[in-house]
Amino acid sequence: MIELKSSEEIKKMLASGKVVSKVLKTMQTAAVPGISTWELDKIAEEIIRSAGAVPSFLGYGGFPGSICASVNDEVVHGIPSKERILKEGDIIGIDVGAYLNGFHADSALTVPVGKVSGEAKRLLATTKKALYKALELIKPGIHLGDVSHAVETYATEGKLGIVRDYCGHGVGRKLHEDPCVLNYGKKGTGPILKAGMVIAVEPMLNLGGDEVEVLDNDWTVVTADGSLSAHFEHTVAVTETGHLILTE
Ligand code: MG
Ligand code: MG
Repeated sequence: MIELKSSEEIKKMLASGKVVSKVLKTMQTAAVPGISTWELDKIAEEIIRSAGAVPSFLGYGGFPGSICASVNDEVVHGIPSKERILKEGDIIGIDVGAYLNGFHADSALTVPVGKVSGEAKRLLATTKKALYKALELIKPGIHLGDVSHAVETYATEGKLGIVRDYCGHGVGRKLHEDPCVLNYGKKGTGPILKAGMVIAVEPMLNLGGDEVEVLDNDWTVVTADGSLSAHFEHTVAVTETGHLILTE
């Protein structure tokens, strides 16, 4: 069942979204050569807690960080570590959630560390654009499959692999709610969007193939072929007239 949020509840979610947005803005300048992903995690946690919020991910299913920090071929769920030092040319996906006044918000972006390759730049730009191509469609009356189809179409045109084993989701009182928001799909299929639905759309795209594996730590998802992977995500509310991105 897809839970509808009232406009009061969406206002609360916007406040959670602002915290998440502030973290990601800081991460864009903090992710420089020489910093560890553990240090990034501490910076993120400090911003979340000083806003009176709680990190959504910390302790979620036993996850040990406030952010997921996924470097290069890591797709999602990278564990922050003192041993993982960023170097020039890396890309790092940073995913963060904040819980405030009873509601979560969830957002991610992928950041270049110093100068990166042309292919890495293309991957980042195309994945971000795939997210926005999908978001711009969102309004009452369309099918969720239209959103998924938009991601798939743009990713395929860009000759990128699409991670199919993980998806976006509803967001609200719980971090992960119905529905599952796939990054591939057919137009005119799936639930019809209604005002009050809040979903996280999150393309995960690879320079290589679609396939992924989970490392022995049972968390970190990596591309099976070792190719670079990017992840961008926003939490977005369906409004009476269109949509509102809550984490921008
Ligand atoms: Mg996320
Ligand atoms: Mg998410």
